[in-house]
Amino acid sequence: MTANALNTSRSQAIFGTAQELMPGGVSSPVRAFRSVGGQPIVFDRVKGPYAWDVDGNRFIDYVGSWGPAICGHAHPEVISALQETLEKGTSFGAPCELENHLAQMVIDAVPSVEMVRFVNSGTEACMAVLRLMRAFTGRDKVIKFEGCYHGHADMFLVKAGSGVATLGLPDSPGVPRSTTSNTLTAPYNDLEAVKELFAENPDAISGVILEPVVGNAGFITPEPGFLEGLRELTKENGALLVFDEVMTGFRISYGGAQERFGVIPDLTTMGKVIGGGLPVGAYGGRAEIMAMVAPAGPMYQAGTLSGNPLAMTAGIKTLELLRQEGTYERLEATTQRLLKGILKAANESGLSITGSSISAMFGFYLCEGPVRNFEEAKGADTDRFGRLHRSMLEKGVYLAPSAFEAGFTSLAHSEADIDATLQAFKESFAEIA
Ligand SMILES: *Cc1c(COP(=O)(O)O)cnc(C)c1O
Repeated sequence: MTANALNTSRSQAIFGTAQELMPGGVSSPVRAFRSVGGQPIVFDRVKGPYAWDVDGNRFIDYVGSWGPAICGHAHPEVISALQETLEKGTSFGAPCELENHLAQMVIDAVPSVEMVRFVNSGTEACMAVLRLMRAFTGRDKVIKFEGCYHGHADMFLVKAGSGVATLGLPDSPGVPRSTTSNTLTAPYNDLEAVKELFAENPDAISGVILEPVVGNAGFITPEPGFLEGLRELTKENGALLVFDEVMTGFRISYGGAQERFGVIPDLTTMGKVIGGGLPVGAYGGRAEIMAMVAPAGPMYQAGTLSGNPLAMTAGIKTLELLRQEGTYERLEATTQRLLKGILKAANESGLSITGSSISAMFGFYLCEGPVRNFEEAKGADTDRFGRLHRSMLEKGVYLAPSAFEAGFTSLAHSEADIDATLQAFKESFAEIA
């Protein structure tokens, strides 16, 4: 596809109308393409590694609905299981055996999880886990890291990642100072800063929450000893360690980042992959802590649609597909080949780049490396990334419309898809160099 061949007239018309109906024309901010320029593409359908827009253009997709599509979009086995469940109704608001099934799968897979509660989104899971941290410890403060995103609950909208980072927004208006005064922040990969916060706030910090591998400030990996150090520091200070694995769960490995790195938190939040493309979140951990959650205990948290049969079915099917032999080796190989090719292509065009991948997650920054925290990530050339994004779209590749979001591969991305993607990168890097 040549540069001017991309006809997006229907996308433009639909998005024009959308902007009159919904703030910014979208249901979630980053989708609006504000940070990369140009107009967003309006999708018509998705299948495997591909997305088709309303003008009939096909894109190789590296967003995967922001994570859930790890088996490829609309996997036939997921769809057929959903069709079967659909016949029995979409929501019970009563116990449903499928909840037991998915709960058991999550407990078997994720080392820290002995009991789990299902909710409807990652945001909900993180909101609830924060309340649980405070309920269990009787302390109000929490430590989070700059550039990490834990959904849009009030207490987490402090130096947050994802859309907040993408759009360069200050901390959100509407969040009471009295709320965020309990949120302490530290740079990622900086144990000393965490140590100081504990020293300055004795017996006041309920715990530390983090993305064990950061995907909402681009892609940042934990330095050796960082996760282990947090495990020790929290234990020493009577605080909880919480891994927000909404993005990394069932993606970094079947048991998440905690399995991959061998560091076991007290509590874990999940979302994205465990819903297999339907709205699901979950939080879980040690049984002793989860026993605080109503109605087993006094900490209130509820949800009308939580644990509905459709979402449970999509999750169960997706995890069944993922736990097959060789899945993560394949994801790792696909992603490594992609990332190596991207770095090589950029270097050949004389561009500064640094990047890495783990399993089915990758990212790169257009700057000299290394990038160990959000401050360093902000050194990346975001204008140039915007041009790269547009050029890749014109060549049929859909990257996350932000320099500060990780990329995702899936089991459906074939060698040929990666080859085509790398060819597009080669041409696009040459154009923007
Ligand atoms: C996406 C994400 C969330 C929020 O999940 P939603 O389902 O979008 O509410 C929370 N934490 C992390 C690490 C995420 O990547």
